[in-house]
Amino acid sequence: MAYDFDLYVIGAGSGGVRAARFAAGYGAKVAVAESRYLGGTCVNVGCVPKKLLVYGAHFAEEFEQSEGFGWTLGKANFDWPTLIANKDREINRLNGIYRNLLVNSGVTLHEGHAKIVDPHTVEINGERHSAENILIATGGWPQIPEIPGREHAISSNEAFFLKELPKRVLVVGGGYIAVEFAGIFHGLGAETTLLYRGDLFLRGFDGSVRKHLEEELTKRGMNLQFNADIERIDKQADGSLQVTLKDGRVLVADCVFYATGRRPMLDNLGLENTGVTLDSKGYVEVDEQYQTREPSILALGDVIGRVQLTPVALAEGMAVARRLFKPEEYRPVDYKMIPTAVFSMPNIGTVGMTEEEARAAGHDVQIFESRFRPLKLTLTECQERTLMKLVVDLKTDKVLGCHMVGPDAGDIVQGLAIALKAGATKRHFDETIGVHPTSAEEFVTMRTPVAR
Ligand code: FAD
Ligand code: NDP
Repeated sequence: MAYDFDLYVIGAGSGGVRAARFAAGYGAKVAVAESRYLGGTCVNVGCVPKKLLVYGAHFAEEFEQSEGFGWTLGKANFDWPTLIANKDREINRLNGIYRNLLVNSGVTLHEGHAKIVDPHTVEINGERHSAENILIATGGWPQIPEIPGREHAISSNEAFFLKELPKRVLVVGGGYIAVEFAGIFHGLGAETTLLYRGDLFLRGFDGSVRKHLEEELTKRGMNLQFNADIERIDKQADGSLQVTLKDGRVLVADCVFYATGRRPMLDNLGLENTGVTLDSKGYVEVDEQYQTREPSILALGDVIGRVQLTPVALAEGMAVARRLFKPEEYRPVDYKMIPTAVFSMPNIGTVGMTEEEARAAGHDVQIFESRFRPLKLTLTECQERTLMKLVVDLKTDKVLGCHMVGPDAGDIVQGLAIALKAGATKRHFDETIGVHPTSAEEFVTMRTPVAR
């Protein structure tokens, strides 16, 4: 049977665009549907605008630190609407680039909400298009728990478009988004409280990293409240929000920001018209080649709930395009040693196993750890310290994990990820000449283990 398209991609986000462009490049006839914004979450309400806001927040400390280097500045003023307007302008530019990328690679773009009506047919804007393969790349959506007053809370989607910087912000959650946005709000001058339901935020990260960031954020004056959860939110006559915690305490804020995880975006997608199944957490179930239970339908990215990071969605997009249209070049995505950064202030950069994971996996580990005051801060009042940590397997000498909290940790860990992927040993690290004077050189100069 002749179909309108070889591949119909639903969602022009990180994974969908990558799959569509590569598939078209391999000669396939491809369409992409997008209901909201070209480039998806990462470009519009994720990585990119978030990093721009983080840059904005860093200026406050840079201004302060510059005094130690002889600079005298007048009183610094910050204007949130300017930052947001400039950020919006840049995102608009990127949306245009994504449009050109798709069109120039020969992909047909359909703007509107796509619904699957049968395993080979997608309906959009009242029209039906048939396709040999359909790719679900619809991403995720913020999830806010059902509590009384939930409608007064915002998520990351709204935070990027606030009309003004709230004076008092309560951030709820202890994952990437909570920690990053708490840093943004605090850095830009809002009185910021971070509420997390457990003992210590960033569950799953290395214990030393979590503790170190807790200490650094406390030093900076952020109010960290662990073992705390919200029972209800009530709007007051003056517009402020009264927040009642489960332990009975009452806090007042101008903005309550929930960053309590994301759900797969499956709204009105028509999965009931297909054999696609969901896993126990509600994500689309796929095999190792991104194949759903419906033979003509694949899925990737945040909607399959594996690793919710843009570079992972990109890699999956490339794998799907190759699998379908260039099988001789197909390589499975390697989910081991995925480096990641949390753009908190200071940043976290990490790759490989945490100490806890390595021990749980039965490794006899050697730990190398260094905490120091970066050279740049020695002429300033800032007491921030950087943490670097290596987790090494004693038997094989292989470096199992690298972890850092400090300026540019994400950038530094990218290179280390290549070394770990190549199977680097501690001896390789020791024999590598440092780049001096940098913070990164500390990773090749740690000689004495701190613990067995
Ligand atoms: P998405 O990029 O979400 O794209 C899905 C697209 O599908 C969307 O454009 C959506 O509008 C569209 N869509 C949905 N349903 C339909 C439909 N029925 N019809 C048509 N279109 C539809 N990752 C990093 O690696 N680094 C970071 O620094 C980082 N920061 C982040 C910060 C925030 C605040 C958030 C929320 C996420 C961040 N992420 C980051 C995660 C990253 O954004 C995601 O992992 C990535 O965007 C997933 O790509 P995707 O293609 O699966 O989905
Ligand atoms: P995460 O899954 O990282 O964190 C969710 C947090 O919310 C956890 O601390 C969790 O606690 C807490 N939580 C979950 N449910 C509730 C609840 N009902 N009440 C109170 N607290 C709750 O999600 P995020 O929303 O922060 O981010 C989503 C994903 O996006 C990330 O996992 C990451 O993959 C990606 N991302 C990547 C970034 C980067 O690369 N820099 C930046 C931002 C996002 P607990 O730990 O106890 O379960």
